[in-house]
Amino acid sequence: MTTRWITTVSEMKAFTAEIRLKGKSLALVPTMGALHDGHLSLVRRAKIQCNVTVVSIFVNPTQFGPAEDFARYPRSPEKDLELLKPLGVDAVFAPSSREIYPAGFATFVNPGPIATVFEGAARPEHFRGMATMVLKLVNIVRPDIAFFGQKDFQQMVIIRRLVEDLNLPVRIVVCPIVREADGLAKSSRNLYLNAQDRKAVLALSRSLKQAEEMAQAGEVDAQKILEEIRKTLAAEPRLQVEYAAIVNPATFEPVVCLNPGSVALVAARLGDLRLIDNLIFGPLGSSPELRLQLALTTQAPDKEGSAGPRPEIERLRLRIEHCRDCAAVSSVSLPAREFLAKYLERDYPDLGSVRVLVIGRCAPMNPSQFVYCHPEAPNQFTTRLYDLLGVKSFAEFKARFALTDGARCHAAGPLVDERALAHCTQYLHEELKLFPGLQSVVILGEDAYLQFQKHILGRGRASIRPFAELLKSAGWAQETVRLPWFGERDVQVFYCYHPAVETKKSPSLAPHLA
Ligand code: AMP
Repeated sequence: MTTRWITTVSEMKAFTAEIRLKGKSLALVPTMGALHDGHLSLVRRAKIQCNVTVVSIFVNPTQFGPAEDFARYPRSPEKDLELLKPLGVDAVFAPSSREIYPAGFATFVNPGPIATVFEGAARPEHFRGMATMVLKLVNIVRPDIAFFGQKDFQQMVIIRRLVEDLNLPVRIVVCPIVREADGLAKSSRNLYLNAQDRKAVLALSRSLKQAEEMAQAGEVDAQKILEEIRKTLAAEPRLQVEYAAIVNPATFEPVVCLNPGSVALVAARLGDLRLIDNLIFGPLGSSPELRLQLALTTQAPDKEGSAGPRPEIERLRLRIEHCRDCAAVSSVSLPAREFLAKYLERDYPDLGSVRVLVIGRCAPMNPSQFVYCHPEAPNQFTTRLYDLLGVKSFAEFKARFALTDGARCHAAGPLVDERALAHCTQYLHEELKLFPGLQSVVILGEDAYLQFQKHILGRGRASIRPFAELLKSAGWAQETVRLPWFGERDVQVFYCYHPAVETKKSPSLAPHLA
């Protein structure tokens, strides 16, 4: 496979228009080049989640201040291409400055208050230039998902705000920090460091490691942890510390007491070189992904300061509000289109041949148990599902059925929050349309029932019969519906108990699905 090297906006637009026409999902990984393993981790993630991956390489002049290192920022396009080729990147977008900022260019994005503190205070125009460039890239490439690194924590929060505030049709996925063996966060600018410098800058990651150890030992006083961080940084005389803080990631205001998801931010100078690093606090042994999830779903404390520890249900509610970030937080790493792109391509050479779509939660919190991930290892869900449908193996299953997970939020059913059902339905719409030959739909459980009734059939609450009552007499129910995109064609819908969640069991549907 070749990696296309694209330098003009028009060629980039034409390339991605073709991809969209083919119905493929598209990933964008924006970078400034001089690639390292941190960048490559984003590319690998993009490859897993989308059909086609575009990496942009552009040292964006508008995000550098006049006294900053724009001119001498490392550039190594040939080496970058050599690193990207083996990963199967489809295209590199490497425009010139003139291509991105032609004569007369005048419009900039103003990213709001979070862009004025920490990095924003140290680099006044930085986030304005960065946000403008990201907006331009999203408009040029029009990716389904854009991938960013936790390494630039404040940047990532600003981009998520940008996407939300300007209703950009892209999902943001954030990947954890990749570090060198000695703990230093990988960065293109590390190329500037000689052995002595390197020893000095290691104080940043070391200070965060100590902070982590204090938190793991039970310290929750942010001030005490911060003092230790400052002490470690101050012990390195060549470092000029710019800031060290522990903040609420929603507001970037300092916290008094550590919460899961609180973030320590550090920045320091070594001569001309500026380095940043961060740490997300999380429960003992929690993965970097879970920590990201906690940080990304942290809310601003309410003004009375009475937020306090929230009960579990409230946390769940907050997470559901953010469920469009399923991919970003990666506890559900198979959101709709990625899942479909990946597994439908592998298992269903002809989507038109699928007559029955099964809609219901499989293993939303644990994608590795998803039916399609390990078809050779049936679990309780698959065994009962096959029973219900009258098939004996995965091969038999996929010859006649396709399964999709109608609700992809973080809520672990039963009874998923209404907003989550409504939100995820946008994906279900797209998915249903992928099967032009669809004759029947099997709905598993109450969540999928409500989702289908309300958001696919557009029924009001008053006209929806309670699930338990509907299934009471026969253990299943059937109706004939019309889906707008199938015109006059009837579709049979079968409602049954969820094979793994509900205690009641529906009788086999095999005779009706022949
Ligand atoms: P840059 O080329 O520095 O603009 O970075 C491009 C993207 O790679 C940004 O989203 C960064 O956050 C991400 N990135 C940079 N360094 C790392 C790292 N060490 N680990 C993970 N992501 C990184």
